[in-house]
Amino acid sequence: MIIDTHAHLYSKQFSHDRAAMLKRADTEGVKKIYLPAIDSESHEAMLALEAAYPDRCFAMMGVHPCSINADFEKELAIAEEWLSKRPFCAIGEIGIDLYWDKTFVEQQKTAFIRQMHWAQDLGLPIIIHSREAMDVIIDILAENRWFTEGGILHCFTGNVEQAQRLIDLGFYLGIGGVATYKNGGLEPVIRDIDLAHLVVETDAPYLAPVPFRGKRNESSYVKYVVEHISEIKMVDIHEVARVTTANAEKIFSKMGQFAETV
Ligand SMILES: [Zn+2]
Repeated sequence: MIIDTHAHLYSKQFSHDRAAMLKRADTEGVKKIYLPAIDSESHEAMLALEAAYPDRCFAMMGVHPCSINADFEKELAIAEEWLSKRPFCAIGEIGIDLYWDKTFVEQQKTAFIRQMHWAQDLGLPIIIHSREAMDVIIDILAENRWFTEGGILHCFTGNVEQAQRLIDLGFYLGIGGVATYKNGGLEPVIRDIDLAHLVVETDAPYLAPVPFRGKRNESSYVKYVVEHISEIKMVDIHEVARVTTANAEKIFSKMGQFAETV
């Protein structure tokens, strides 16, 4: 069994073959898939997918940093409203993205910290998106040591030192397709960091692993990530699947109660 800890399977890119794609994932042993929220434009699709596959697909709630702009309070209010209505498995994906646009960096930081407060109040893990912002994120986590629930730094692409700092702060590293890229730079991290701190993910439909790099990604391809970790660490493939699955189960075991306090 493998758990895909991060996949946007509700994306329009799967609208013509979603059922067949989920069947392929099942055949490859991908029994649980965690769905990160982006913003209110895709909430409906995400929750519909979760409702159609209640034992396999699990929704998070949160506002993606690329959806944070001058009007971000509106999006935060919508996410907060959802959190008061029903349980979610995590707050995500949240974080900071300085790759596309630095205009709203202060708003991104504010939204990130606000959503960390929600997670703490609900006893939920956070799933962090970081692009060109690893040290900024680590500093925010370090400054906010009251946040004790931990979570996943999704699509981790940093170095060994950054990995270690995140682990010390209570986080797991989400390893995805980038691990299979020649120029991905993740080999030292995968080699040096114990399996006890890793989970696997696809980030489908993005970042497909080799041999599908550049194509649409899907959850069944997470096996290429597991294979790659197994080769680098020289650990049996089943052991990689077993430990990363156990890690993911542990992270997502805190499915929140209803949020009276949010
Ligand atoms: Zn994502």
